[in-house]
Amino acid sequence: MLGRVARVLRLLGFDTLYFRDEDDLSILARCIKEKRILITADREFFNLAKGWNLNAVLAPSEDVNPWEFARKVVEDLKLRECTRPFSRCPKCNGEMEMIHRNRLVGFVHPYVWHRHEYFAVCRECGQIYWEGTHVDRIREKLFR
Ligand SMILES: [Zn+2]
Repeated sequence: MLGRVARVLRLLGFDTLYFRDEDDLSILARCIKEKRILITADREFFNLAKGWNLNAVLAPSEDVNPWEFARKVVEDLKLRECTRPFSRCPKCNGEMEMIHRNRLVGFVHPYVWHRHEYFAVCRECGQIYWEGTHVDRIREKLFR
């Protein structure tokens, strides 16, 4: 499954859908309609997509290193300029908004609330993110 790759692409700010159970044809139709790039580890599906003239990327396996692979995709497709780190929710692909802590009283643990002035909040699922130590690690992985 390429779910971890999807999460990394969202962290990079790409509008990324992730399909598990949908049938191949509806995925292809959606890619065409929404001008999406298809990423799959399934060679047959990849060939089918190419036959439909879709912009498609074949992942070497289901368990690629998500960071390495996402970086490679971004470089190969020359999308570096399009990255907008931390603008999308890695969980649901919703757009994130920076919100001042005064509007989030009671929504995050007081310990965290006191240490951060702004929080990133997902407009879709409401998940709240803040700059923890993991953010530095993510930055490092994105920009090294
Ligand atoms: Zn979300």
